[in-house]
This record gives sequence, C-alpha cells and structure tokens, in this order.
Amino acid sequence: MSVDRKKLEALLQWYQQEVGENLIAALIVNREGLVMSALKGSSDTEVEEDVIGGVSALVEPVLTRITEEFSSGSFGTGTFDTEDQRFIFCEAGPEAIFVTVLTSVAMVDPVFPYAYLAAEKIARIFDGRSVSPVIPKLITDSQSHDIERKVDKLQKIKIQSGEYAFKLILGGEGGVGKTSMVHRFVEDSFQTDYKSTIGTSIMKKECEFQGLESKVRFVIWDLAGQAQFKRVRQTYVSNAEAGILVYDVTRKETLDSLENWFKEIKSVSPKISLILVGNKIDLEDERVISTAQGEELALKLSLSYIETSAKTGENINDAFKMLALQILKRFIFTEEV
Ligand code: GDP
Ligand code: MG
Repeated sequence: MSVDRKKLEALLQWYQQEVGENLIAALIVNREGLVMSALKGSSDTEVEEDVIGGVSALVEPVLTRITEEFSSGSFGTGTFDTEDQRFIFCEAGPEAIFVTVLTSVAMVDPVFPYAYLAAEKIARIFDGRSVSPVIPKLITDSQSHDIERKVDKLQKIKIQSGEYAFKLILGGEGGVGKTSMVHRFVEDSFQTDYKSTIGTSIMKKECEFQGLESKVRFVIWDLAGQAQFKRVRQTYVSNAEAGILVYDVTRKETLDSLENWFKEIKSVSPKISLILVGNKIDLEDERVISTAQGEELALKLSLSYIETSAKTGENINDAFKMLALQILKRFIFTEEV
C-alpha cells in the first residue's frame, strides 16, 4: 500500500509552523532508518542545502541507536541530546518513527505533546485512515520544567504509571457548541449522568496513548442551561483539572467574552490546564473571526489554540487529546536507556 506523501508533507509543514524557530528539522523515517519525508526548519544552523541529505547526515548516528532499540520491540518516545541539537523520537505506528530536531537551547517538554500528536497522525496516514494535518497552535508554558539535557544519552520518556481521571469543564457563551463538542467526543463510549441540583450532565471518556502506556479518563461536566449558571458556577468550576474555552467563529461577542471566563475559572481553579477552541469552522461563509484573531487571544492568555467543527467532527478528538497531553506532561519522567 502506498503512503499519502502529500499528507505527510502537509503535516510536517504545519509542524514546522507551530514549533517555530527552534526547529532544525522534522523527519519521518521507517524502521530501517530510511528517511521518507523531511523538512528543514527555519532555525539558522549548518544544515546543508540538500534538505534530506543534510538532515539525515545529522540524524544518522542517533538514528542507528534508535532503530536498534526499535528492532527489539516497541520504543515509545524518547529524547537524545548532542552538543548542538536536541532530538525527540516518537513511535508513529508499527512502520515509522517521527524525529524532531531542535536547537540546543530549545525546551523539549513543551514540544513533546505536539510531537506526540503529530506522530499519531503519521501513524494514521500510514494506515490509510483519514486525518487532518492540522497541529494545534503551540504555546510554550514558561513555568513548565524541562527534561534534563544529557549529551549522548538516550532517554525514554515515560508517564508515571497510574490511571488518571480529570474533571473537565467547558467555558463560553451559550450556543457556541460546547454540548455538541462533548457529544462528538464521547459518542462511542456514551455514559451519562445528570445532576439536577446544578443542572449538569456528567460524561466519562477515556483517551489512550500509544507507546506511553497511559490512559486518561476525562470526567466531563457539561452545564445544561446557562440560566442557573451564576448560582452554580463555583461548584461547576471548582476542582477542575482541565477546561476548554469555546467561542463561535461566526459571532464576535463570543470571543470577546472569553477573557472573563478565563479570569473567573483561573481564580477558582488556578492550576487548571486550559485550551482555546474556535468552533463552527464549517460555516465558512458566516465566519467573522479569523484564525489570526483566535491565535492572538491564545497568545495573550498563553493557551494552546485549535479550530474545530462539532458538526463535521473536524479536530474534535485532537482538541481533547491535546488537553490530555498538556496535563500528562506534568507526570513525565525519563529513564536512560
Ligand atoms: P452550547 O450552548 O455551547 O452547549 O451549544 P450547543 O452544543 O447546544 O450548540 C448550539 C447550536 O449550535 C446547536 O444548534 C448546534 O447544532 C450548533 N452547532 C454546534 N457546533 C456546531 C458546529 O461546529 N457547526 C455548526 N454549523 N453548528 C454547530
Ligand atoms: Mg450546552
């Protein structure tokens, strides 16, 4: 079966755009270590003009070690540092490895969720399944710790074992599509419970992460009506670990009101992980808020950003996965191989 190379290239391009200036290169290699697709980043380094040749020369010694690891079974995800570069390796299904090459000053930790998400998409492309090449907007969280730089050491990235369950809430004006997003996301494993006292539906959904041996269970609280909201707000928001702030790309006021939601949620649950979502992108003709405007708010609030359609399902799973990875990042540890 032939692989959709155009899709792979589109994905790498998105990745480059989102990871930004610290990216030296991104490569997709097969299990024999052969480069299948590669892209040179904007970072000003000594990578040769011949992109694939230059990059693979750079990556080759490391790749040899990685593929040796691969031949003995599943590798998962890992990092490797040289004097001048930092590498992130992610298993991308049974056939490919996704390699990110960063400058030595880059942080691995914030890039990891994006590399992981990109690797999952690559695995899906290899399987011939449909996949959106969109990578959410990367926001570097300045407070996050980072994986220690250990030159010439292969380090496996692991998540502290255990079942993780997180309360997830949704913020945003009525009618932006919060309930529709949740229903899309939980459609297969629909478990619902209704708390009439606070007018909230509670749904559970598990997210699995290949090669990380971790599962995340979201316990999603969705407010049924907006009317009672003021009265129940505190209960709704308190103890939430994750939240999605949603606006409707066809209504400007829904974007403007999100800053207040942000402040209020943060004041009740300061440690919450949040992402920003622009929903209803299927309504192209009615759209009034551009991607750039959404990203502007995301940057201001230091949130990751993704655009979705609950109607078509586009990027819905990625939005939740992104959020899960953002939280899992806190439980990362590394093990030298
Ligand atoms: P909530 O009040 O934020 O929970 O919003 P709902 O999920 O109840 O959705 C409000 C309305 O928007 C409903 O009529 C949905 O069918 C519609 N809707 C939700 N998401 C989308 C979307 O992505 N595209 C379109 N075209 N309509 C949507
Ligand atoms: Mg609703």
